[in-house]
Amino acid sequence: MKNNILTITLCLAFTFSFSQTDEETLKSIYKTSLTNGMSYQWLDHLSNNIGGRLSGSKNAELAVDYTKAELEKLGLDKVWLQPVMVPKWERGEKELAYINTDGKIKKVNICALGGSLATPEKGITAEVVEVTDFEELEALGKEKIKGKIVFYNRPMQADLINTFNAYGGCVNQRYAGAMEAGKYGAVGVIVRSMNLRQDDYPHTGSMSYGDLPIENRIPSAAISTNDANVLSEALKKDKNLNFYFKQSCQQFDDVQSYNVIGEITGSAFPNEYIIVGGHLDSWDLGDGAHDDGAGVVQSMDVLRLLKESGITPKRSIRVVLFMNEENGLRGATEYAKIAEAKNENHIFALESDSGGFTPRGFSFATNATNFKQVLAWKPLFKPYLIHYFEQGGSGADVGPLKSETNVLAGLRPDSQRYFDHHHASNDTFEHVNKRELELGAATMTSLVYLYDKYGVNPVPEQQQIKD
Ligand SMILES: [Zn+2]
Repeated sequence: MKNNILTITLCLAFTFSFSQTDEETLKSIYKTSLTNGMSYQWLDHLSNNIGGRLSGSKNAELAVDYTKAELEKLGLDKVWLQPVMVPKWERGEKELAYINTDGKIKKVNICALGGSLATPEKGITAEVVEVTDFEELEALGKEKIKGKIVFYNRPMQADLINTFNAYGGCVNQRYAGAMEAGKYGAVGVIVRSMNLRQDDYPHTGSMSYGDLPIENRIPSAAISTNDANVLSEALKKDKNLNFYFKQSCQQFDDVQSYNVIGEITGSAFPNEYIIVGGHLDSWDLGDGAHDDGAGVVQSMDVLRLLKESGITPKRSIRVVLFMNEENGLRGATEYAKIAEAKNENHIFALESDSGGFTPRGFSFATNATNFKQVLAWKPLFKPYLIHYFEQGGSGADVGPLKSETNVLAGLRPDSQRYFDHHHASNDTFEHVNKRELELGAATMTSLVYLYDKYGVNPVPEQQQIKD
């Protein structure tokens, strides 16, 4: 009898440790990330040993080599590079700008927007027209704009809680400002930085001339929020003041680059793919720690944390480090093209590209049935203060994988500080908190674990999280 009890006890202990419930698995994933994570160490290297990784640059190449080598150390089933041609644009010398009013010179902080033309070597001097949107520009017309610098000064809306919505409400000034002003014969464009904070950092980002004729294309730069206010105030006192700016950026021919991919091949359904990713390229001003070094290292750690937690995925789990999200989306486009050509069934794609801040949850781009399944997992995340499960967007890099039936998702960290750093020289490693970054990696890993375990809809009722 005593022996029998001992046997039963041992059996229970055995069962307990080898068939963990989802709750216990999540606990183990968070614990491993917070006590034995690699994301912060990888980010340190990417940020401090490599630095800003603009597509086509030497640093982008170094980042490809580094992440591939690190993934190879993880004992995944496959690690490879997926070739993709990317644009190459260089900032050149540091930009120079000042306001000239009443014979007094006031220096201001600007930076060229990605993809912009240079000014002539001696710079551009012109009067300034301040506007807040394209309608105002149209109302002014050619007569009042020709020969002038257009200054877009619509600030990000401060009362929006999700700062990405505030960004979305402003970014057309940056992206299409030169395209629109060029139509009316403007000679240059200055855009208020996409930043909710008042400071001296100019924030770069991509812009496009669309199909504007070459003779109408004009240089375009961002000005810091402090200096945007200085310029606006100065214009109130002297509407004929002169603004001077000089930039020497240059567009080169496309160059060869790569997406970096690692895979754990699924043990039961190898042609059902779950991917996690971020973008390896960044802007050149900072070291791209939040945008998107954080997403890169978190995604790498997802595969490692699954392995460390003793999980053998049923489906194929890939980490994809996309190249060229910032100024072309070529890596994402190429990845989706090849996935389609190979008939790979991407059932779930998760991106982290909103900074390495405290995770709050996810945004899901999917149909109502899939969303319902995802919502059933929400209570499991409660102990980690992860509460945000909403339908909405996902991420730029996973976007091209959208299908009628799959689920795309984006990690949603706290967004209040993101735009203090976004695309500026203060997007640097010291502004990323180790624990916040690791919590993000664990949150992503947990969702991937659940998705791998339960698969895509329709999911039989008994397979729900009751275990
Ligand atoms: Zn990004």
